[in-house]
Amino acid sequence: MANKEDLFKKIIAHSKEYGFIFQSSEIYDGLSAVYDYAQNGVELKNNIKSYWWKSMVQMNENIVGIDSAIFMHPTVWKASGHVGAFNDPMIDNKDSKKRYRADVLVEDFMAKIEGKIKKDVDKARKRFGDAFDETEFRATNGRVKERQAKMDEISKRLYGAMDAEDLTAIKELIEDLEIGCPMSGSKNWTDVRQFDLMFNTQMGSVSEEANTIYLRPETAQGIFVNYLNVQKTGRMKIPFGIAQIGKAFRNEIVARQFIFRMREFEQMEMQFFVRPGDELKWFEHWKAKRIAWHQALGMPAEKYRFHDHEKLAHYANAASDIEFEFPFGFKELEGIHSRTDFDLSAHMEHSGKKLQYFDPELNKSYVPYVIETSIGLDRMFLTILSQAYNEEKLEDGSTRVVLNIPPVLAPTKATVLPLTKKDGLPEKAREIMNELKLDYNCAYDEKDAIGKRYRRQDAIGTPYCITIDHQTLEDNTVTIRDRDTMLQERVAIADLSGLIREKLKIQF
Ligand code: ATP
Repeated sequence: MANKEDLFKKIIAHSKEYGFIFQSSEIYDGLSAVYDYAQNGVELKNNIKSYWWKSMVQMNENIVGIDSAIFMHPTVWKASGHVGAFNDPMIDNKDSKKRYRADVLVEDFMAKIEGKIKKDVDKARKRFGDAFDETEFRATNGRVKERQAKMDEISKRLYGAMDAEDLTAIKELIEDLEIGCPMSGSKNWTDVRQFDLMFNTQMGSVSEEANTIYLRPETAQGIFVNYLNVQKTGRMKIPFGIAQIGKAFRNEIVARQFIFRMREFEQMEMQFFVRPGDELKWFEHWKAKRIAWHQALGMPAEKYRFHDHEKLAHYANAASDIEFEFPFGFKELEGIHSRTDFDLSAHMEHSGKKLQYFDPELNKSYVPYVIETSIGLDRMFLTILSQAYNEEKLEDGSTRVVLNIPPVLAPTKATVLPLTKKDGLPEKAREIMNELKLDYNCAYDEKDAIGKRYRRQDAIGTPYCITIDHQTLEDNTVTIRDRDTMLQERVAIADLSGLIREKLKIQF
């Protein structure tokens, strides 16, 4: 496979060429960091949503879903702490005129040091073989220790400055580390400033401050303000969860990573309400559950890692990210946060409404604590694409591009292909297609040689190709070709639907 930068470019080009993702308003040269999902993309996206929704709402009797509005009362965002505080530190390079997130510049610098440590560890592992003890090596190797100490020092300074909102200290750190502009290398930086990430607009006809409303920057608040409605009408008992999938908007400073960082994106969030004091137990529970969800898709374990937060958001008492190794490195895919009773207490204070829960077992009322799992749907989409995109050298010397998308998520589950356009084969194929499409999203293709048609399906990740040939007319059997192995099996038409169902099964 080509180098990682090339791989990322290829994934972006493939997404467009095969109808997964288009730039928004492309005929007007696009809108930065906004994307449209195309005919295959929307299917994959809907399948990811459904896999998440089922694993949360269908598989857990104590989790229910809601769909709250994007527009909310402006006080919601005062209570949540977003107004005036949902900022990122930005810095401009005076020579290249490029804008960056100051904290990300430093984090990328740390990632480089970490990369060097990893190289040393990998080398040593090769040298020592089975006897290698990584913890021991990290604790004793002089060079690794030195690098780790440097990382710790930078991390302390960065997160200390972020916590204190000390923008001057962040700038000093960038200067001390001699970080240059990733585009030009120039070290000629402006001061660091805060940049407000919330989009706002006016509701109604008068544009006064009182009418300013926000496009929600997260879906979570829609859950918190409905917590009591759901608890009462659903007769929910603690512990219980509320799940939601929906759009969120952030005016991101840097938006150059395709659908990794968008200004309009979708989140899949679940807020789990627990007894105060039990939150860290549930935090560990959800960390384990969520990583298992990713791996049930057959994704390689070594591409995932947890990153425990050192800098905790104002609302959290524990936080961990699930990071995935994208073509541009390990980055956050999902956040798991122990949000304490911060949100509910804040809404109680601002609304004057009691948002407590009466616990019949303890015979007392309290404001529940909350564990949140929050995953970006678009980032999950990119995770799947990054892992699925493969260029394979075949035995005959040719190359095939295949998307090894987990079958349960694939846009089209099966494509029906009559071997030729005559002899009654298309009619038979249509018959089979009409039956199968009641259960699965299927496609029909009779144009071009069969090999070429298989390649087309490989490129959009269709796991099964069903070919109708002359034997089909005699004995009602077809061949079913597996995308990954390219092996074909002869099966009875009557068994097709059950066979595909078996292959799409997944353990939540
Ligand atoms: P980052 O540090 O990358 O900006 P974050 O820590 O601000 O992310 P959260 O506020 O925890 O992210 O949001 C939860 C999830 O929403 C993230 O794990 C990510 O998958 C997704 N997400 C956040 N911002 C974006 C964005 N601009 N585009 C796409 N997905 C996003």
